Amino acid sequence: MRTKLIVEKSTSGQIGTSIPELDVQERELGNLIPEKYLRSEPPRLPEVSEPEIVRHYVALSTRNHHVDKDLYPLGSCTMKYNPKINDWTASALADTHPYQPEELSQGLLGVYFELEQQLCAITGMSAFTLQPAAGSQGELVGVLLMRKYHELKGNSKDTILIPTAAHGTNPASVAMAGYKVVEVKSNAEGLVDLADFEAKITDHVAGFMLTNPNTLGLFEEHIFKISELIHAVDGLMYMDGANMNAMLGIARPADMGFDITHLNLHKTFSTPHGGGGPGAGPIGVIDKLVDYLPKPRVEKVDGKYLLNHELANSIGRVHGFYGNFGVLVRAWTYIRMLGPDGLRHISETAISNANYLMHKLKDVFELAYDRSCMHEFVLSAQIQKEQGVNALHIAKRLLDFGFHSPTMYFPLIVKEALMIEPTESENLETLDRFIDVMKQIAEEVEHNPELVLSAPHTTPVGRVDETYANRNLNVHW
Ligand SMILES: *Cc1c(COP(=O)(O)O)cnc(C)c1O
Repeated sequence: MRTKLIVEKSTSGQIGTSIPELDVQERELGNLIPEKYLRSEPPRLPEVSEPEIVRHYVALSTRNHHVDKDLYPLGSCTMKYNPKINDWTASALADTHPYQPEELSQGLLGVYFELEQQLCAITGMSAFTLQPAAGSQGELVGVLLMRKYHELKGNSKDTILIPTAAHGTNPASVAMAGYKVVEVKSNAEGLVDLADFEAKITDHVAGFMLTNPNTLGLFEEHIFKISELIHAVDGLMYMDGANMNAMLGIARPADMGFDITHLNLHKTFSTPHGGGGPGAGPIGVIDKLVDYLPKPRVEKVDGKYLLNHELANSIGRVHGFYGNFGVLVRAWTYIRMLGPDGLRHISETAISNANYLMHKLKDVFELAYDRSCMHEFVLSAQIQKEQGVNALHIAKRLLDFGFHSPTMYFPLIVKEALMIEPTESENLETLDRFIDVMKQIAEEVEHNPELVLSAPHTTPVGRVDETYANRNLNVHW
């Protein structure tokens, strides 16, 4: 039986706080705060004891799925390895104020400066800005840098090429920056179709934006050839590096010919994300684009850190302060804790975990592109669909076993797509449990499809009416 979702806990007279006695005269307060702002009645707050309020939040936390409960194989956008020590350092520094003067912020500016250098070492880029607050904002900033480059060179460019296996934010960011998106086909191997690519290159091409590895989890093998063709028309190469956990310590975007890249610190370099934030999508560039980076930039002059606002060719500011500080501190801690060998180990584990799952599951589910993958892979529930059950039903059934669903119906080039990313965080036992459950669901589809079609059976909320929810949005109760 489903548990009742919301239980009113307030009981008159219960108290969970101990506030020190008022040490100013109430009369004095009356003088400080104008009469019209003073309450005439106490606020209507829930009255609960401390154990009850803790139980309330713990109960709520178990009603949704999260990485502290079990596997969360939501391809591409998932939370990757996320050590708790990063939260500890970030919360230790949470009280610092963004208006603190530079001389009192040397340590914090030092964190920014070092983090930029670490990201340069990881990607091979010459400089980074930490300002963008999300991967998608990083993409927008990256395209604005492209625009600045072409404007200053007097190039007349209006088009950016994007392959069909790109992440969904890529075409959106390009369109926001005022460029035309021209799609490049994927070939039978799931990579950029070179013939189609060459046919679409003209003098109007400002650049190429590539999610690498792409959303099929495949590394773009013809990257040198692609870079050469784009550079031949003075275009710029942009890499969407949101899922850098596929390459850390193994390959660097700058060595592949990329001129600009963004990283998602809230995916690859820890910081729990979900529900829209917080995030950080730093942008790295090669030498010829450094002058256009957003201002201010962190610099070290005579052993002191400062924020330089005097940058004539900068595209300007893209964040209220210098970025999402807490996210940046977590990334800095993460990189310092793991070191170069640890980072490489992250990627090796991410890749072997994904390949292990892929090989164990490809006999039961159709594998869209049967070749070695990087951090993720895409199955198709096409066989199951012919038996009357689709990818959505399978995703719902997984919830009954305490697993989150994979990303579904994306990328669009795979029918009934289930995009699975186990991440580097999982051990062999967890991967094996997931394999067993996926196989069991495939059996159920054959022998007892009703069980899958009516799932989930064990969650506090079953099937929601998504159309109704979209049309009648009500986010409070
Ligand atoms: C998550 C993701 C993005 C977008 O990042 P946000 O921080 O959610 O804006 C872009 N590209 C890829 C490949 C991603 O996985």
